[in-house]
Amino acid sequence: MDREPHGTTPRPDTVEVVVVGAGFAGLYMLHRLRQLGFSTRVLEAADDVGGTWYWNRYPGARCDVPTTDYTFSFDPELEQEWTWSEKYATQPEILRYARFVTERYDLRRDIDFGTRVEAARWDAATERWELRTTAGEHIRCRHYVMATGCLSQPKTMDIAGAERFTGEVYFTSRWPHEEVDFRGKRVAVIGTGSSGVQSIPLIARQAKQLTVFQRTPNFSIPAGNGPVRPERRAPLEADRDAYRKAAKWSRLGVPSTPTQIMAVYSTPDVHRERFEAAWQSGELVELANIFADQLVFPEANEILAEQIRAKIRAVVKDPETAELLCPRDHALGTKRACLDTDYYATFNQPYVRLIDLRAHPIRSITETGIDLGDEALAFDAIVFATGFDAMTGAIVAVDIAGREGVSLKQKWANGPLTYLGLMTAGFPNFFTITGPGSPSVLSNMMVSIEQHVDWIADCLAHLRALGMTTIEPTATAEAGWMTHVNDCAQITLFPDANSWYTGANVPGKPRVFLPYIGGVDVYRKACDDVVANDYLGLMRSGPGGTRCRDGVIRRVQPDMAMVLDLLATLNLPPLETLPVEQARFVMTQLSTGRPPGPTVGEIVDGTLPGAAGPLAYRLYRPVSPGPHPVVVYFHGGGWVLGSHESDDPLCRDLCKRANALIVSVDYRHAPEARFPAAADDGLAAVRWVAEHAAKLGGRPGALAVAGWSAGGNIAAVTCQLAHATGGPRIAGQLLLTPVTDCDTSRPSYAENANGYILTTSLMKWFWDHYADPAARTDPKASPLRARDLSKLPPAFVVTCEFDPLRDEGIAYAQALAAAGVPVSHMTARGHTHTSLTMVDVVVSGAAVRAEMGNALRRFFE
Ligand SMILES: Cc1cc2nc3c(=O)[nH]c(=O)nc-3n(C[C@H](O)[C@H](O)[C@H](O)COP(=O)(O)OP(=O)(O)OC[C@H]3O[C@@H](n4cnc5c(N)ncnc54)[C@H](O)[C@@H]3O)c2cc1C
Repeated sequence: MDREPHGTTPRPDTVEVVVVGAGFAGLYMLHRLRQLGFSTRVLEAADDVGGTWYWNRYPGARCDVPTTDYTFSFDPELEQEWTWSEKYATQPEILRYARFVTERYDLRRDIDFGTRVEAARWDAATERWELRTTAGEHIRCRHYVMATGCLSQPKTMDIAGAERFTGEVYFTSRWPHEEVDFRGKRVAVIGTGSSGVQSIPLIARQAKQLTVFQRTPNFSIPAGNGPVRPERRAPLEADRDAYRKAAKWSRLGVPSTPTQIMAVYSTPDVHRERFEAAWQSGELVELANIFADQLVFPEANEILAEQIRAKIRAVVKDPETAELLCPRDHALGTKRACLDTDYYATFNQPYVRLIDLRAHPIRSITETGIDLGDEALAFDAIVFATGFDAMTGAIVAVDIAGREGVSLKQKWANGPLTYLGLMTAGFPNFFTITGPGSPSVLSNMMVSIEQHVDWIADCLAHLRALGMTTIEPTATAEAGWMTHVNDCAQITLFPDANSWYTGANVPGKPRVFLPYIGGVDVYRKACDDVVANDYLGLMRSGPGGTRCRDGVIRRVQPDMAMVLDLLATLNLPPLETLPVEQARFVMTQLSTGRPPGPTVGEIVDGTLPGAAGPLAYRLYRPVSPGPHPVVVYFHGGGWVLGSHESDDPLCRDLCKRANALIVSVDYRHAPEARFPAAADDGLAAVRWVAEHAAKLGGRPGALAVAGWSAGGNIAAVTCQLAHATGGPRIAGQLLLTPVTDCDTSRPSYAENANGYILTTSLMKWFWDHYADPAARTDPKASPLRARDLSKLPPAFVVTCEFDPLRDEGIAYAQALAAAGVPVSHMTARGHTHTSLTMVDVVVSGAAVRAEMGNALRRFFE
């Protein structure tokens, strides 16, 4: 035992708050609660403070976030009093720091060491939690905070025969406090995650023989440990507050400017330069920020992964061993990457051997060593570096029962359900620090711990001020948050990897992406917004009654939300306040530098005869040999903005997905050419394309129309005109968020009036430029008003949740269906009017665009 247990003063068996765990989270929570005057007890299973750094004493254990950042920031004086000795501090130094913090704030007197909580039950009558410890003590509290750690519950041993081994057995996560001496011994290390990668080079320095058992190779980069890098030290010393603030509002909890450079659009030289700079920095934050698309597109990730493999091959002399060490079953970053010191070089030692567990699984551990079936290996010591039941393990290890006795384990049987990773419905006054659904393990944990502790402390103070005794998330708020957490994960490569982030390392654990990947900054804003909106989604009650503003804090798709945030920072004047020429200029400027979209076989520009003169068009040809079906496409822009080139990425995308020729037409624009010029040009263009299909490389007779926004309006009108005036025959109409009616009083105009790029006032401005009020009700302007919609081509209509045009799109789909037209209608949840055109930017729109491509293919079947 490192420290004396608490004195003989009896502890109160009822307090306002119990905190479980005395790692960094529990320590800071206790400090804040004390400052606020809450009576608090901290219960800790270990014999001392430190949590992770108390238990994980294996050789080589260090932090993998620079220690300048992996440190408390809540008190500038504390920072003045402590100096870290190197870039990545060792476990003993970090543990010394935890003890230093403990003594400095006199925290020890409220902590019970050697005290494990085994059960907790909500008593609705008294509105208190009743906790039971393994020693049989019962403690009652109003609020129950789990500061039990994300990586504190070792994975249960799942290797047969482990108990039979008669030699020395070590677990990296439960390392002895005495020094372990491997000199002259034959040592096995099982596991090559972070702990294995850190300990293997040091164990190899002592052992007579070292055998490493690897199931999955991990990506690792050299830590380059030593003095703190000037890139970190200088800004911190120059302005501590600014540096800490930058960390709080960064993506990963370490100051860094997210790159906008995309690997898929960069040259090999750029790939090499940017990778090499990250490699040399020895920082995981830099490794994660080489390209904006590295965790989105497999091909972008592979560019970086292959460069790491090249580094491994350059170090490891035996080519077979080098190949075994090269990760191939997951994308770089989707399992926690490692930082190492001489890890790969260790395998050049003649007495170090690597065994691939996929090719040679362990049959069992025996009295003397490890039996692989085709080979029996004898060892003096086995080290298990087999990892943790991450994020949920320590929480559900306690038998927790909420309202009506519902068990948390049962509630989370298919994966954890939380609101903000802080609370869970049905479990009042129950908080988790860095719980599932929060950035936690995907961030610098010190930053995330401080944020959660501050949020919880403020929340308890708020309840007290209101005279409220309970707080609990609503089902709506929790479900909304989980949808958002999942939306964030789905636009990345993370869910595909068999990692502990998804629970895949623990047999039987439900496969769910556990942390929140939207970023520390975005997450912090969401938590702040919940508070600013009167604790949105949190039911509070007390003697004075109940209070709850129910709702969902984040509904827009995360990547679209990023675009909206970025646009907000540009502070552009509303387009409708500008002269038309300037509005067109702004739109052109905004589209320069956007990702071009997928490669197609060929792009050809030409002109075709419109209703009143030549019109430019751009033709996109698929890579596959023709002839192809043809889609005439009408761009968006409210009849005022845009051109045959302006929807370039979307046209490429449709061309590729539908394997069809796309002919994007530059119809005449208002106000120079007002209604019905655009509609007349639409029909003229379709006629010309139909007549010249073969010459364009198209399949005669296989013709469809498509359009976005005002282009959707022209596409819909063209179908009506073609039907009414004798052709050509159109196989289908793809209408993406189309304008179908001049009535701007539908609810979607009010609900989505502002904030989603296309505003209600901009739409009115478009109408004003396009058509006189009297003309707008003409079906050539408002196709929804046509008297007869029957016999029109089959339609695929896409509407977006946050779009003023949503309801008229829905109305048109319904009207077509009512008239007997085969219609599919898709609602793009969380999307805006412009989302789906932002190819390779709003990646979450890809699934909808895939359906659009399928719809076009079906038109031609
Ligand atoms: C080897 C290793 C290296 C790491 N390096 C980094 C890094 O570089 N950067 C980073 O950001 N994060 C790192 N982490 C993550 C690390 O866990 C956090 O940074 C941080 O230390 C977590 O603090 P905590 O207080 O939340 O949890 P912990 O430190 O895990 O503390 C939780 C405490 O709760 C106690 N406990 C659990 N259940 C019970 C119970 N039922 N009753 C009583 N007590 C209980 C445990 O004994 C433990 O002491 C690392 C983790 C490991 C394992």
